[in-house]
Amino acid sequence: LRGGKNMIIDVHTHVHKYPEQFTKEMAEAFMIKGTKRKAWFAPERNWRIEDCDFALTDLIKHMDESGVDKACILPFHAKPFKTNVPNEWAAEQIEKYPDRLIGIANCDPIGGLKAVKEIDKAIDKFGFRGVKLFLTYEKLKLNDKRIWPVWERIQELDVPVLVHTGGFSPRPTAPSEWQNPTLLDEVGNAFPDLKLVMCHSGHTWYQQAAMICSYYDNFYLETAYWEPIMPMELNVRSLVLFKYLGLINRVLFGSDWKWASQERAIRMYKKIPAECKRMGLEPSITDEDINGILGGNAAKLLGIA
Ligand SMILES: [Zn+2]
Repeated sequence: LRGGKNMIIDVHTHVHKYPEQFTKEMAEAFMIKGTKRKAWFAPERNWRIEDCDFALTDLIKHMDESGVDKACILPFHAKPFKTNVPNEWAAEQIEKYPDRLIGIANCDPIGGLKAVKEIDKAIDKFGFRGVKLFLTYEKLKLNDKRIWPVWERIQELDVPVLVHTGGFSPRPTAPSEWQNPTLLDEVGNAFPDLKLVMCHSGHTWYQQAAMICSYYDNFYLETAYWEPIMPMELNVRSLVLFKYLGLINRVLFGSDWKWASQERAIRMYKKIPAECKRMGLEPSITDEDINGILGGNAAKLLGIA
């Protein structure tokens, strides 16, 4: 394992069993029904619903092959799709590779006291380091007031919370507009100390995500699933904008494994400084910026030495 500054940390991966945890309903929602079962988000890959079994051993193998030191595991939770990957089960998986894996808790975002207790248990008992709220998967708008008690508790615990932003979630679910990063302005206002990570940086709404992030020093931008769906040019331009707004040290690498490849994403990031120079963009993205994105920034946020 690399230490400190050059560590590679993937803050966004999934491990679960199909169909017991990640259900058939959920898997089908990720695929385009009736069109040769192609996944709408990656039609070239010809996903089959059976591929939705994301094994821990596969993750570790892929991490080893791509040079990823540590990965955060985000267990799915989506009531409308009867999907729940229990925190307990995730904790058991993490115990097998405690120096490679970091637990991120799930809960019912509008579960009130029960959700708060679930988060407390995951942080205190299992040693998880953050929370992921699956909001539009639960048919919730990012600024739904029923989530307030859960935001409140996460802020008190002083751990990061990851939320999905951008037009990208299983169909049919909530309207895309419900995951517009600008809705998080209300959350930032109400919870000034909440460490909030915008998963996917809003995808094509990356400019909106960057603007919101620039209002709140405790907000972060995360890049999961950028490599497969965003052309290189947009990957470069987005980082240039993030740096221009002073946010480059709050950008975190995520892959969204197993939906996407860690190895391909890392290769893409390493090309960015040269590509940025070739495109003649300012401020230029340096190797140091990339090292921060690939791990240094996450190490600071997650308290990993
Ligand atoms: Zn994901």
